[in-house]
Amino acid sequence: MKILFVSSEVSPFAKTGGLADVAGSLPKALKKNGHDVRIIMPLYQCVDAGSFTIKKSRKGFEVPVDGIIQKGLLRQTTLADIPVYLVEKKEYFQRPELYGTSAGDYPDNSQRFGFFCRGVVDLLKRLDFRPDIIHCNDWQTALIPFLIKQEHQDDPFFTKTALVYTIHNLAYQGIFEREALSSLGLNESHFTIDLLEYYGKINLMKGGMLTADVINTVSNAYCREIQTKEMGCGLQGVLQHRSHDLYGILNGIDYQDWNPSTDPLIFKNYTSTTLSGKAANKKNLQNALGLEQNPAIPLLGMITRLSSQKGLDLLEALLPKFEEQKLQLVLLGTGDEKYMKMLSTLQKKPSKKFSINLTFDQALSRKIYAASDMFLMPSLYEPCGLGQLISFRYGSVPVVRKTGGLADTVFDSRDGVREPNGFTFDEYTPEAFWDAISRALETYNDRKKWDKIVRSGMNSDYSWDHSGAEYEALYEKALKKIRM
Ligand code: ADP
Repeated sequence: MKILFVSSEVSPFAKTGGLADVAGSLPKALKKNGHDVRIIMPLYQCVDAGSFTIKKSRKGFEVPVDGIIQKGLLRQTTLADIPVYLVEKKEYFQRPELYGTSAGDYPDNSQRFGFFCRGVVDLLKRLDFRPDIIHCNDWQTALIPFLIKQEHQDDPFFTKTALVYTIHNLAYQGIFEREALSSLGLNESHFTIDLLEYYGKINLMKGGMLTADVINTVSNAYCREIQTKEMGCGLQGVLQHRSHDLYGILNGIDYQDWNPSTDPLIFKNYTSTTLSGKAANKKNLQNALGLEQNPAIPLLGMITRLSSQKGLDLLEALLPKFEEQKLQLVLLGTGDEKYMKMLSTLQKKPSKKFSINLTFDQALSRKIYAASDMFLMPSLYEPCGLGQLISFRYGSVPVVRKTGGLADTVFDSRDGVREPNGFTFDEYTPEAFWDAISRALETYNDRKKWDKIVRSGMNSDYSWDHSGAEYEALYEKALKKIRM
């Protein structure tokens, strides 16, 4: 199959969260299975400034934004032999961040991603690549299925192309004021309840969901959850309407990239049979971050976007308890101002127990996965969650709230259903979170039992081998639909 993978972030070029990991690894798995895959994303400042070889191309395109023709250029790089097209428009993408700062989103995001989506549709015809599948991801690319189905429905170029739309996080929908219609190059006829209109505003994700041939999200549990009023973020009706075309496929991670036995950025490489190497990583990180250097103190890691989704209020409520207990906490995160403030207060207090790192740092993240004994994900909701999958791989035992993809991948001995690989809790309360942590701390003192849980995670397989095949099956379903 010829597959165009469209994403607003792709690791290692640009990353704010799990979408980048998926966009940087699923295409590799598909290519390995013999497909002709290409990726397209915006050319951000961080991509330009990175150490990537970026080729100029003579291809340009024009997109009307607010009635003015805006010109863009196409550039190109590669990811493991996969062509990666980069949409260049300095005014929109040469900025320090991808979507906004800790104070909020960039105010012109509708122009920026409207331009990107129209650019992709326009460029396709000049690329000499007519995809069987265009795989779009999240709100930033949701306009693509919408444009192809609404504006190009009779265009022979697209009649054999199926549109797949993946929801990585339903909470971010691309909602804009009605006035943004003109920046998106759309008109009032698109502003109806069965298209983009949503409580008097424009909702791009809704448009993507309604027009793609098939839709999926990134775990089976989240797929069920988002069809309910409680967790449907206002789009449960649309999702129920499309339930026959809606699937759950668990994310995988790149097992070559996330590999403690070869990772060049950790202190010492190790495997599930050489766990003493993991202890060396802990000692090194304790030292580097000014924590008490003691192998017996359990080290809790947390690496996260600082957003209300991630259970940071539960963490905050437990901090006084953490002070009293024999444990250490290493947190790495950036995000909302509210949490940045709360955590920077903690960061300023001298401590041999807490290390608070308010940056985005891939190298440090790997060191934390390798050094920590436990990995905290007390999420309010979690579409899939990659943190727990990476922590399995590095032998850090996840302590998670049983929601979405966390419920599908982390098993607690308390439930007795699967071989235990972590600790879970149900209620979104500090008490329930603490109960799971304290059970983990207790088990930690029983080396034999603990190592068994560590190895269970390390020996599980959440690579793309399985989920990649599920995407192939999803693409087949999408193609079948358009041939009907
Ligand atoms: P989400 O996509 O909601 O942010 P996931 O658990 O799916 O959450 O993916 C998060 C990814 O981003 C993981 O690869 C994690 O290691 C990484 N990450 C999150 N915050 C940081 C940070 N501050 N520095 C480095 N990596 C981070």
